[in-house]
Amino acid sequence: MKVGFIGAGRMATALAGGLISSGFTSAENVCASDTYESAREKFAHETGATTLEANLTVAEQSDIVILAVKPQQLPDVLQELKGTITGKQLLVSIAAGSPLSLFLETLGDSIRVIRVMPNTPCLVKQGASAFARGGNATEADASLVDSLLSTVGTAVEVPESQLDAVTGLSGSGPAYIYQIIEALSDGAVRMGLPRHVATQLAAQTVKGAAEMVLETGEHPGALKDAVTSPGGTTIAGIHALESGGLRSSLMNAVAAATLRSIELG
Ligand code: NAD
Repeated sequence: MKVGFIGAGRMATALAGGLISSGFTSAENVCASDTYESAREKFAHETGATTLEANLTVAEQSDIVILAVKPQQLPDVLQELKGTITGKQLLVSIAAGSPLSLFLETLGDSIRVIRVMPNTPCLVKQGASAFARGGNATEADASLVDSLLSTVGTAVEVPESQLDAVTGLSGSGPAYIYQIIEALSDGAVRMGLPRHVATQLAAQTVKGAAEMVLETGEHPGALKDAVTSPGGTTIAGIHALESGGLRSSLMNAVAAATLRSIELG
């Protein structure tokens, strides 16, 4: 399976690194093109894979072509790839906000295309990605992209109409959680902990609680009930969160980012 990246920036480097270190494919089977030599050098250095200047050569020789340029660079790249991308390759786009119709209209209805919404924790192999199929992309193509994304986190398939909500949740979500970690740390500093201790404990608490939800499969509310003893410290903290409208604020944040994603699309 030959995997080619058009654009060898941060996300391409992270994905290629995941593909190679997980054994999904070997470095000899991965190639990337980029306009900038510095990006090509960094990609090659960090992944051990080869790089080329020409996008077309990468597209021609790959079974999976991953478009990893910025959304504003995509129209030019698609014009360049016209005629080269056919139903032969599986086209995967990670460009935020670029709809499946853009690829089908530019490259033709017969292409196999999958649109992915990844998030930045892919850079540390803890991504939460969602993807939607278009054109002639098959069940097998979807399963391939699922395994590919699973090398840098977890992935779910959704209809394209749900990708704006995915953007509002997992796409923008890391920033919400950074604010939560910073605020928890601030609270602990206010109560006398040194900053580095407070931030480490806050971040690990978020990570640990997330692992509890994912690993136990329990409802988050049930996990919360299990750690709130009558008249105890945790319920006192939760009461303060409820008074501050934490849950309503987070729901509003997801809704606001989703609506903005729809507006931008
Ligand atoms: P990046 O800027 O690090 O990488 C893009 C690369 O594309 C650059 O190295 C650039 O030189 C190269 N490029 C530009 N024009 C080109 C062309 N015509 N031909 C070949 N290469 C070209 O960006 P990134 O953060 O890796 O993001 C890549 C894509 O992933 C974007 O579309 C973004 O919307 C999407 N995405 C990123 C994140 C994230 O967290 N970084 C999250 C979700 C989605």
